[in-house]
Amino acid sequence: IPVDPFDLIIFGGTGDLAQRKILPALYRRFCAGQWHEDARIIAAARAGHSAEDFRRMVAESLHRHAAVRASESQRVSRFLQRVDYVPLDAVSAEGWGLLGEKLSPNRVRAFYFSVGPNLFGPLAERVRAYDLATEDTRIVVEKPFGHDLGSARELNATLAAHFDESQIYRIDHYLGKETVQNLMAVRFGNMLFEPLWNSQYVDHIQITVAETVGIDGREEYYERAGAMRDMVQNHLMQLLCLIAMEPPAKFDPDAVRDEKLKVIRALDPVEPHHIVRGQFSAGPEGVGYRECVGNPRSTTESYVALKAHVSNWRWAGTPFYLRTGKRLVARSSVINVMFKDAPHSIFGEEAGRHANALSIRLQPNEGITLKVTIKEPGPGGMRLIDVPLDMSFAEALGPENQDPPDAYERLVMDVIRGNQTLFMRGDEVEAAWAWTDPIIAGWLARGDVPKPYDSGSTGPGDAELLMKRDGRRWQGIK
Ligand code: NAD
Repeated sequence: IPVDPFDLIIFGGTGDLAQRKILPALYRRFCAGQWHEDARIIAAARAGHSAEDFRRMVAESLHRHAAVRASESQRVSRFLQRVDYVPLDAVSAEGWGLLGEKLSPNRVRAFYFSVGPNLFGPLAERVRAYDLATEDTRIVVEKPFGHDLGSARELNATLAAHFDESQIYRIDHYLGKETVQNLMAVRFGNMLFEPLWNSQYVDHIQITVAETVGIDGREEYYERAGAMRDMVQNHLMQLLCLIAMEPPAKFDPDAVRDEKLKVIRALDPVEPHHIVRGQFSAGPEGVGYRECVGNPRSTTESYVALKAHVSNWRWAGTPFYLRTGKRLVARSSVINVMFKDAPHSIFGEEAGRHANALSIRLQPNEGITLKVTIKEPGPGGMRLIDVPLDMSFAEALGPENQDPPDAYERLVMDVIRGNQTLFMRGDEVEAAWAWTDPIIAGWLARGDVPKPYDSGSTGPGDAELLMKRDGRRWQGIK
């Protein structure tokens, strides 16, 4: 469905994120015919490029990151005709007058702050001071949204001084993934799952976000952040919320976000012995974490596993195990809802115990698998085996869905449409920090040192123990 005409202003348009993600995503939506013929992109950044130089830069990025074929050159040119550039400084008067002249009245105006968070305040202030905001103005801010509760509150207050919450779009690109939305469709569009979606039937839930990459190119940021701030506070908690939340009355931004907030507020503080921190050591893929950041005593974690409890009627007694790490054996983001065993086996002990499990794969190969128990074929008596009922989106929905849209494609178009459902509200972000801050403070106070783990492994052995102590085990990462 085509969206309304828009001016999308990308502050930081020459940066890595804009070139690698945002502009390729916009190009794909352009190719999909979703742009109105009057829609335009105006990139603004510190570098003194001409618009022509900038378009060349974008053309190169599209070839590199949007898999543009030679036969598409005319389409790329048509896209580039809609792209303009303004050299501008976020912290001085330079470029703002020119930007104002380039904007058209009466259209959606979206300002994408693809810059470091230290510039969010100066940009918000100048967008107002130069009178660039209209009724139909939205601002988009990237992660990280703060470093702790105090800084997140400050950022929220700074943005709130210039914009209404309904105009602020805080990106968590995990929420733009096809399967994440499918998670809500599966839960609230089927009669099958929701009646079982509680502590009476669910033994526990596992959320894994495993990465094979290290921290190359992000050393300085990562050394200050670590896995807790970089992944758990935002992406993993958002996934936890979508799994644990009550059905909202309707699929409406505030109804969904109200329910997510209630989940975060129901989270118990995490016991120190329910958390494992790890740091990768050298392996065939490269040097260890400490060498990467050039700090032989670094205690920043590149891995976290923890057990969380959502203390409410639905989930009391059902633990949520979360884990994420860098340089692990495989790249895999998956949620496993592990159901309880049947209360009584009519087939006797030798049939074994077989519990159902629902796996929701976010990447790679987005899809959903339900593990069900059936009889082992053959004359050998009543032996039970588990088989997967597999719904790979690519297979089930045909070749046109082989490649679901990138999260940024959906999120940027949602900004233009004015739909905040997949964006974090200010109070959600603050509540998430309020939960993670004491964990991080505890590490600092105890002088905690993360456990080393081999690059290319599944993480530190203590993470296996965390499960084993509870008589459970992690589902495989691969
Ligand atoms: P980057 O350093 O590659 O680019 C920064 C951009 O900001 C450049 O275009 C630069 O010209 C511009 N800029 C810097 N100071 C400026 C000023 N005073 N006035 C105007 N423009 C100025 O950074 P990036 O990797 O593109 O990241 C941008 C934001 O997105 C950061 O907040 C980052 O944390 C976040 N983010 C990045 C990624 C990623 O994959 N790169 C992923 C998630 C979030």
